Amino acid sequence: MRRGRRPLPHDELTEGGKISREYREKMNQNEVEETRKKRKAYYLKNKSIQQIQKRNINKKRRLEATELLGGKCMSCGELYNPAARISNLQFDHLSYPRSGRKAFYYYDILELAKNGVDPKEQFALLCRTCHMIDTFIRKNPQKAILQISRLEKLGIIDLN
Ligand SMILES: [Zn+2]
Repeated sequence: MRRGRRPLPHDELTEGGKISREYREKMNQNEVEETRKKRKAYYLKNKSIQQIQKRNINKKRRLEATELLGGKCMSCGELYNPAARISNLQFDHLSYPRSGRKAFYYYDILELAKNGVDPKEQFALLCRTCHMIDTFIRKNPQKAILQISRLEKLGIIDLN
């Protein structure tokens, strides 16, 4: 459509004009649809590449933070397992309440180290089992004491 010119109403068009317009409209619609599909495919393709890159960077950062905290469970000594899809070692924020950024603790750990602060002052590295035990005991210290003394009476654990 030329600037400053309105298209003729449909009933004022010649037969040829009508056919021509219908053809153009149909073509444009197909082109629009094609372009939309191409854009979506491009977006999805690059989105997955970006996600992989992001995941690799996060994995690298997480490993750096794990090494800064000694690379093994601070309680039982379980070593970092590089083959595990989900890390067997977890970060535990020692100062409560939690920051609410649990998934990105390693960024905080790297930041502390960068600023010359030993991250061990604020974070613990625990294997999943020790982290779970730690969390349950922290949440219910009285129950934990009762349960531990029960297990001791049963001879399952020996605190001496
Ligand atoms: Zn452990």
